[in-house]
Amino acid sequence: ESSPALRETRSVCCYCGTGCGVIIEHEGDRIVGVRGDRTHPANFGRLCTKGSTLHLTTGAAGRARHPEMRDARGAARRRVGWDLALDTAAGRFADVIRRHGPDAVAFYVSGQLLTEDYYVFNKLARALVGTNNIDSNSRLCMSSAVAGYKATLGADSVPCSYEDLAAADHLLIAGSNTAWAHPIVFRRIEDAKKANPALTITVVDPRRTETAEFADLHLQIAPGSDLLLYNAMLHVLLWEDLVDRDFIRDHTGGFDALRSQLAECSPGNVAAACGVPAERIAEAARRFGQSRAALSLWCQGLNQSHHGTANSAALIHLHLATGQIGRPGAGPFSLTGQPNAMGGREVGAMANLLPGHRELANPAHRAELAAAWGVPSLPERPGLTAVELFEALGDGRVKAVWIACTNPAHSLPDQARVHEALRAAEFVVVQEAYADTETAAFADLLLPAASWGEKTGTVTNSERRVSRLVAAVPAPGEARPDWAIAADFARRLQRRLAGEGDAAGGGFDWADEAAVFAEHVALSAGRDCDMSGLSHALLDACGPQQWPFPAGATGGTARLFADGVFPTGDGRARFAPVAFPVRHALLPEAVDARRPLVLLTGRLRDQWHGMSRTGKVPLLWGHTPRAEVALNPVDLLRRGLQVGKLVRLAGRRGEVVLPLASDDSVAPGQAWLPMHWGAGTLAQAGANALTVPLSDPVSKQPALKQAAVSIAPY
Ligand code: SF4
Repeated sequence: ESSPALRETRSVCCYCGTGCGVIIEHEGDRIVGVRGDRTHPANFGRLCTKGSTLHLTTGAAGRARHPEMRDARGAARRRVGWDLALDTAAGRFADVIRRHGPDAVAFYVSGQLLTEDYYVFNKLARALVGTNNIDSNSRLCMSSAVAGYKATLGADSVPCSYEDLAAADHLLIAGSNTAWAHPIVFRRIEDAKKANPALTITVVDPRRTETAEFADLHLQIAPGSDLLLYNAMLHVLLWEDLVDRDFIRDHTGGFDALRSQLAECSPGNVAAACGVPAERIAEAARRFGQSRAALSLWCQGLNQSHHGTANSAALIHLHLATGQIGRPGAGPFSLTGQPNAMGGREVGAMANLLPGHRELANPAHRAELAAAWGVPSLPERPGLTAVELFEALGDGRVKAVWIACTNPAHSLPDQARVHEALRAAEFVVVQEAYADTETAAFADLLLPAASWGEKTGTVTNSERRVSRLVAAVPAPGEARPDWAIAADFARRLQRRLAGEGDAAGGGFDWADEAAVFAEHVALSAGRDCDMSGLSHALLDACGPQQWPFPAGATGGTARLFADGVFPTGDGRARFAPVAFPVRHALLPEAVDARRPLVLLTGRLRDQWHGMSRTGKVPLLWGHTPRAEVALNPVDLLRRGLQVGKLVRLAGRRGEVVLPLASDDSVAPGQAWLPMHWGAGTLAQAGANALTVPLSDPVSKQPALKQAAVSIAPY
C-alpha cells in the first residue's frame, strides 16, 4: 500500500502576535513538518523555536476528543454525543436566563480564537442572549494599549508596520523582552541595526533581559515607574525644545493642559522613584527627540498595570509632541501578545466593544448593530470584564459561564478566588482543544475544539495584517471548529428561548467560515478598521493584507495618519490628561517588612502561556528545563539562601514552592518568576497564586506584572 502524498497548506503560527506565516507539511491525517512561509510579509520564511516546532505539538497527548459531561458536581465526566452535549448546554443556559435574566450568563473567549470564531460568540452573546457579558483574555493582554490609543489617537488603530523597523533611526522598547516574546520581530531589529549601525536602541525594563543587553541604553527602572519616566522624558523634550511645535499646533489638542501637569516631572524629581539617574533619563529623551524617525515598541510591561492606560498614553505623548508619527520609521507600535487579539478587537468581542471598533456606550453604534443583526435593540448595560466576570461568578451574580480556548484557572490573578468562583458556578462549559488544562478540570461540560492546523479562518497580527489559515488535517476524534460549536449552540438556544418546537430565528446558519468573515467585514465598512474589501477568496489570491482595506481597494494600508488627520471629532490627536504621577502608587501592592520583595512575572523564550502546547515538546525544555524563581546574588547572600534549594514564595493571597536560581539580571529586592506554570503542571501553583486582582480603571486590564512577596527556605 503506498503512503499518502506529502501535501502543503499555508497557515499562520498560533503563538505570538508577530503572526508569522507557515507552510504546514502533511501526509494523510498527519502534520509531519512545518517551515516558514517565505512569501509572508511578517516573517519572510523565518520562524522562532516555538514556531519551528509546531508540527511536534500535533498528535500530542492531552487533546479533548469527545464531548464529556458530568451529571453532578463531584461526579466524573462521561463521554456523550454532540446532540446531548449541546442540547443540555442550551437547556441549562435557557433555564438560567429565564430564572435570572440574560446577565446571569457569561462568555469568556480568547485572543487565540480565529476572527470567525470570535464573531460568532459575540453575536451569540449580544444579539441572541441579550447580554454584554462577553470578554476575552485579550483583556489581560492588550486592553491598556487599546485604551491608550483611543485616548490619544481617537481609535484602536495601530499606526505602524514591521517595515518601519528598518526605516527608524531610534527604537524605544518599553516593557517588552522582544528577543524572547516576539523573536521574529527581534530578528528584524537585529537586521535593522546591522544595516544601519547608527540606529540607536533604548530599552526600558526592570530586568536586564536579552533585549536590554542588545540596547545602547538600558534604563533599569524600578517596577511600575514607567509613567514617571515617560512624563520626565516629555519634560526634557519640552525644556530642551526638542518638540515639534508645528505638529502640536496643527494636529493635536490638550497640550497646554498636559504641559502644566508636567512641570513637576523633571528627571531630578522622579529619578529616585524610577531608580534611574536623572542624566540617563535626559539622555533617553534626547535620543528620542533628536532622532529623524523614532519608533516605540511596547508590550505587557506597560499594559499589565493598574495604570496601564496612562502608561500607554504617556508613551504615545512622546510621539505626538515630537511629530514622530505617520512617517516611515516613526510611531507608537504595540506588540500584540496573542495571535489574534487584534481580530477580537475588530469584531468587538470584549465587554465594552461592538463590531467594527464600535463602542457599546454609543447608542448610535448599538442601533447600527441591532439593525444589522435583525434584533430590536442591543443590551445597553455594560458587560463584565475578565476579572469582574469571575468575581461575579464567585458571588452568584453570574450562574453559568462558557469558556472558550483559554485557561482562566491558570491565567487570571488571585487564582484561589478564580478556582472558588468556578466551583461556585451552577454550570461551567469549557470549549477546548486540550482536556488537561487547569480550567478543564472545572468543566461540567467539556466540548472538544479543533486546533492549529485543523481550522480555517483568519487572524490579524500586530501590524493590522489579516492572514488566512486553511485546515490541513481533520481535528482528532469528534472535535469541531470553535465557530461551528458556537453557531450550533446558538441555534439550539434560539429554539429553547423561543419555545420548544419553534423554528430557529436564523442568523446563525452560515455555510462556512468564509460566510462568517463576509458578515464581519461588511460591518466594518466606513469604520477606521474598514476591511470591507477583504474576503477569504481575496486573501487566497493576494496574500495577507493590512487594514484599512475598503471595498474596491487594490491594496492595504501600511501606515496610518500620514496626512496628520486622526479619527477624532476634530481630526486632532489628543494629549490625554494624566494624574500627577510622582506620588502615584507605582506598584499594585506595597512591599513591607513582612513581604519585602517585588515579584516580577514574565515569559520564557521557548514556552507559551500555560504550556498546554509547548510543554509537550521535549525540544522546547532545553532552554529552561524547570520552573525556578530567580533572585539577584546579593539577595541570596543577604538572606543565606542556596541556589537549587526549594524556597517558599508567599504573598497576601497564596504561595508557591519552587527551586531558587541566582540571576544578576534581576535587580536586588526583586524576584522573577515565569508565568507559564500553574496548578496542575509541574509546580503546585503558579505565579498567579500571588498576583493582585487590581485592574486599570479605564482598560480594566489587571496588574499581572508585580506583587509583594516574602521568601523563605522550604
Ligand atoms: Fe510564532 Fe511568534 Fe515565533 Fe513567529 S515569532 S514563529 S508568530 S512564536
